[in-house]
Amino acid sequence: MTPGKFVPGHRGPAFVTEEVVCCLFHGNRILVARDTDGSPLLPRLDPGACGLQLKTAQYIGRLDGCHCYGLYLPKSANLPEGLDLLGLRTLILEGNDLVSGLAGQAFQLLEWERTHRFCGSCGAPTTPHAADRAVECAECRLVYYPRIAPVMMALVHRGKELLLTRKPGYAPGRYTVVAGFVEAGESMEQCLAREVMEEVGVEIRNPRYFGSQPWPFPNSLVMAFSAEWAGGDVAPDPAELEDARWFSIDALPDLPEPVHISRQLIDDTMVRLRVT
Ligand SMILES: [Zn+2]
Repeated sequence: MTPGKFVPGHRGPAFVTEEVVCCLFHGNRILVARDTDGSPLLPRLDPGACGLQLKTAQYIGRLDGCHCYGLYLPKSANLPEGLDLLGLRTLILEGNDLVSGLAGQAFQLLEWERTHRFCGSCGAPTTPHAADRAVECAECRLVYYPRIAPVMMALVHRGKELLLTRKPGYAPGRYTVVAGFVEAGESMEQCLAREVMEEVGVEIRNPRYFGSQPWPFPNSLVMAFSAEWAGGDVAPDPAELEDARWFSIDALPDLPEPVHISRQLIDDTMVRLRVT
């Protein structure tokens, strides 16, 4: 099946009588249907027949004209046969970009709503905001928007070598790039320089933006850069890393799966370095 056309939205219709596309979660697992080739799809369900309470759901938009919701799997749900519970990480690895993106978005929104039922300032219950995708304190009117944590990712290169790192627990032989959360008051450039210095002990220059990827574990937006090595010997931080070293672009180790922006950044940089 080819990926459909998705139009984002945060206000659903007052009544739904037709089938809806569902991101139905049970913990970190999501209910999926299967395409003819076995790849995971988001199920289309009749909310009335299945016992789904869309009032408690997060509306996320329309997929091929069909309203799309994220919700937790109700205990009372009466679901059709043939659906599987799949780990969200597995879905993101196996699903197409559209399915992965919608599931990741729905998961983040549900987790945000679940953890913002009460005001952090005065403790009163929150209610949905009238205009925005947000909740608002019923007493002090403080507004809470979905939380997104920016993560900076850096692939450092020197000549035709890439600086790659591995943490304990990675798949055997697997290496990847440096990454870390942006701190309050920090620019993207400052974060890149700090993270690279802290993790591997080298200086960088000329950061070059590659692209970004939302990552729902738990609520990150990863912004990926390549950067030139500007000085210093590699000294991996033992608190975070098991190893860090230079690899020739002709002899790279095992790398993350192509769905990860880290892998796309490595592939893109490698192509650029080969022709220079
Ligand atoms: Zn309050």
